[in-house]
Amino acid sequence: LVAFLLYLFYLVSPIGQLVHGFTQMQNGLAAVRRIREIEELPAEEIGTPAGVSGTTPAGVGFRDVVFRYGEDRPVVHGGVSFEIPARGLTALVGPSGAGKSTVFALLERFYEQQSGTITVDGRDVRDWPLPELRAVLGYVEQDAPVLDGTLRENLVFAALGVDETDVRRVLSLTRLDDLVARLPEGLETQVGHRGIMLSGGERQRVAIARALLRRPRVLLLDEATSQLDAVNEMRLREVIAEVAKETTVLVIAHRLSTVTSADRIVVMEGGVVRAIGTHGELLDDDDLYRELAATQFLLPT
Ligand code: ADP
Ligand code: MG
Repeated sequence: LVAFLLYLFYLVSPIGQLVHGFTQMQNGLAAVRRIREIEELPAEEIGTPAGVSGTTPAGVGFRDVVFRYGEDRPVVHGGVSFEIPARGLTALVGPSGAGKSTVFALLERFYEQQSGTITVDGRDVRDWPLPELRAVLGYVEQDAPVLDGTLRENLVFAALGVDETDVRRVLSLTRLDDLVARLPEGLETQVGHRGIMLSGGERQRVAIARALLRRPRVLLLDEATSQLDAVNEMRLREVIAEVAKETTVLVIAHRLSTVTSADRIVVMEGGVVRAIGTHGELLDDDDLYRELAATQFLLPT
């Protein structure tokens, strides 16, 4: 019971979030090996992995959400509201400190809002079992690390019940099949620190592929701020657009190329939603958006 409570604490606490990041990097390979062992068990002993519980895309809703980290002024105030239907691409933009990352943290329930309602698939996030909620929301962090190990291990990390067809499909979806063809040992090539170093664009797509193999119903993407060359920039835009046909994608966007193809853009500033619209609409209606677009984004979070 104590272990269980500790585990719960680990899941809900921000410290847990940090520790999680660390252990993910340090014990990446060990985890992959454990997962291998799990995969070798007969199906009935595995049970239903949370990440595979449903692959239908889910909508996301914020209704009058007010949140503060501490005692002083609220971070998300004015009652943040937006409605994101299942499937499609929604970009979250705004200057540093606007509250974009906080929206993700609230969705994943690393924190709880003081008032208002947050829903995933129409269900209050407070009513979701936490591991299930986190499995449904596939989160790709900014500049996600490539772990020491083979490319395959990097992809199937934390994914259960994945077969070769799934891997090939995701490789093609994330435009990584070229990379695999180029690597000396294909998917079995050592990458990361002690292997072949991948470019920024490739690393980002590996992180997206890894998240997709866990079959999220909503993909949360915190776009990397590192510069990409024109080819990688175009590939990333294609991949995001392609993925958004199949699932709900919510991206904290730092690139103009991502927002121009978004179905809707939520512009945040100082903890409020300033405007929601398409690129064209916002260029006409919103000064801040026009300014961000003129500077091509690429602001740090
Ligand atoms: P963005 O991602 O748009 O840059 P954030 O959501 O990270 O903005 O931050 C919004 C505000 O909340 C900022 O003023 C930031 O300083 C504050 N903030 C973010 N994380 C924390 C935290 N863990 N504790 C206290 N304040 C925080
Ligand atoms: Mg941020």
